[in-house]
Amino acid sequence: MTTAPFTTAPFPAGTILGYPRIGRRRELKKAVEAFWAGSTTAEELEQTTAGLRAATRARLLELGLGRDDSSIPESFSYYDQVLDAAVAVGAVPSRFAHLVQADGSIDLAGYFTLARGVGDSLPLEMTKWFDSNYHYLVPEIGPETSFHLASDRIVREFEEAKAAGFLTRPVLVGPVTFLLLAKPSDEAPADFAPLSRLGDLLPVYAELLTRLRAAGAEWVQLDEPGLVNESIPVPRTEQLAALAEAYRVLGGLSERPAIFVAAPYGELGDALPVLAASAVEAIGVDLVRGALPVGLDADTSAALATKTIVAGVVDGHNIWRGDLAAALSTAESVSALSPTVAVSSSTSLLHVPHDVAEETALGQLADWLAFADQKVGQIAVLAAGLRDGRAAIQPELDAAAAALAARLAAPGVRESAVRSRTAALSAGDYSRGDYAERVAAQDAALQLPLLPTTTIGSFPQTGEIRRARARLNSGALSAAEYEQLMKEEIGRVVELQEEIGLDVLVHGEPERNDMVQYFAENLDGFAVTEHGWVQSYGSRCTRPSLLWGDVSRPAPITVDWSVYTQSLTAKPVKGMLTGPVTILAWSFVRDDQPLAETASQVALALRDEIADLEAAGIGIVQVDEPALRELLPLKRADHADYLEWSVGSFRLATAGVRAETQIHTHLCYSEFGVVIDAISRLDADVTSIEAARSRMEIVDDIERSGFDHGIGPGVYDIHSPRVPAVAELTELLERALAAVPGRQLWVNPDCGLKTRGYAETVESLQNMLEATRAVRANA
Ligand code: GLN
Ligand code: ZN
Repeated sequence: MTTAPFTTAPFPAGTILGYPRIGRRRELKKAVEAFWAGSTTAEELEQTTAGLRAATRARLLELGLGRDDSSIPESFSYYDQVLDAAVAVGAVPSRFAHLVQADGSIDLAGYFTLARGVGDSLPLEMTKWFDSNYHYLVPEIGPETSFHLASDRIVREFEEAKAAGFLTRPVLVGPVTFLLLAKPSDEAPADFAPLSRLGDLLPVYAELLTRLRAAGAEWVQLDEPGLVNESIPVPRTEQLAALAEAYRVLGGLSERPAIFVAAPYGELGDALPVLAASAVEAIGVDLVRGALPVGLDADTSAALATKTIVAGVVDGHNIWRGDLAAALSTAESVSALSPTVAVSSSTSLLHVPHDVAEETALGQLADWLAFADQKVGQIAVLAAGLRDGRAAIQPELDAAAAALAARLAAPGVRESAVRSRTAALSAGDYSRGDYAERVAAQDAALQLPLLPTTTIGSFPQTGEIRRARARLNSGALSAAEYEQLMKEEIGRVVELQEEIGLDVLVHGEPERNDMVQYFAENLDGFAVTEHGWVQSYGSRCTRPSLLWGDVSRPAPITVDWSVYTQSLTAKPVKGMLTGPVTILAWSFVRDDQPLAETASQVALALRDEIADLEAAGIGIVQVDEPALRELLPLKRADHADYLEWSVGSFRLATAGVRAETQIHTHLCYSEFGVVIDAISRLDADVTSIEAARSRMEIVDDIERSGFDHGIGPGVYDIHSPRVPAVAELTELLERALAAVPGRQLWVNPDCGLKTRGYAETVESLQNMLEATRAVRANA
């Protein structure tokens, strides 16, 4: 079906799919948290964020996007773009029905309530956004969901921009992706598919598009990354039919902006012909993660030639300045599909920090990097190159090539000592001896009771601890004074654990600012930023480290802390390390070699640390891998390769120890069934895993899988201050014991306690011990 164009405005030559929302100094975080705390009003919050949006537009203009060509995306969000879509279309679970006002609208306070919950009403669930470290809120859709336009914020923000003299491009999560990412509501029957509500959802999107057009929007961007994700459990034929239907309906509107459908995070595959055949005017393809489609049928080729193809050639996922000439070549090659080609980021720039210029301590490294602002600059250059020819941007191409060459040749990027070690690895370096023999040796060495009790590592990070670290960083405290304070803290944590009666003790991790950054600061090959914050979810940000060179360990990192802790108690103390996969997952990692290679280097550094811990008398070492599931590729075809190197790096880190040394790992999710293959191949002696929120349901998966190593399904949720009662914990333990043999079972909370307060921590652990004693007595 062909529809007459509604606008003669061409798609802009260069654009980005979205820009960081948090603000250069995390202004959004501060503003929303002040609103949550009740210290500012909704009006004040609106005003602050209007200022942030204005600053973003002004900055993007300065960086080379246009004032009136729809190249600046209107991609702000107070919390999350999927929540924005849910609120825009009135998709509110029945437990929050009271948030919808008499006129059908949902205000800002209601919006935040959906994200954060209130009283007994749990917030929308949060889950990982594609293969990024960003987390979105999962819409709940059922037969009862009454779709209607409940917030026109996207229209108001377009108008706000227009009033300031900008013609921007509103960005929304597309209707198909919105439903693909949703889960069935509590009321929905078991086999309910949210996608079945597409027909009722589309009129709301239609209304929004019509209103945007009436307000003057020339282009709208609808993000449909759901179509690139193979792990969505909806049959592909249904996904494609929904895509066709959605853009038949929206494309057929008599009054609408031109539609740009973006598909970041992977390849569209068989969804591309469907979009080509639809009435949308522009299609965005991620050419960083995916390749240019080949072998298209004649109809698709002919249809694509009538569209603008938006070539995502600047990596929105990583912070390297990269190879600009190669990006230009890729963009040029897109002209094989259509005469009309534009350049963009491969994904929203939400995943990278604002501006390298904010970093003053990175030295030559700064020249190798491109944060969001630099990437916008690159896109402006590439757009000029496409328009005026390569020669017109030769100076910029040369500068990028010189920076890349300098980076690859810089000292530390390739260290022969590191390289020769990884080159010499052989199969034996990856495996420990027979498991049964290890069990016997560990039983003899550790003498633990049935159902051993432990924690995941961190104890509450009190204000006192944070202040001490701040004073160390500002120079107000000497290293020796800081160390003394941390030792006192460790002493208190050990004493507390002994009083409570835990069997395997931890030092509590007071000296760690963050479980990855701490190691990054102590390993060669890493750098840390001052202002490199990226949004993780809502107002939460992380500051990933930069892994730029060959990784090695200049000196032991944790050994003194663990040895000191062990000197305070006769109970075994667990050494505590972050695993190679998690270190990679939560850093920005060099892109000049396969992740597998980098993972091996990190693994060897950890292997040395573990050897030193063992030699110093530490009998148990935990290597946390909460991100093992997170890095699992979207494409099933890539799983085997990923498991090979991720599991391999964990084994490389841990396989150097004696049989009697017990290796633990900790995983932060409860999808045991999904990663059982990986978990068993890790061959850790003991694995602790989140389980409380699923009421121990995962023990059935554990039983079914035949997993026979030690397992500690978390008995209580540390994400809330709620103290679990003894009876409740006893029941969960009994449930676990009914599925898993007692000799395998460990008792521990779901995760580390660093975000908790002491009051609830002590009470919860006391109850955990009381329940364990009761269950042991009956076992
Ligand atoms: N050992 C870490 C802690 O207890 C584990 C944290 C995590 O799994 N994210 O804090
Ligand atoms: Zn955890």
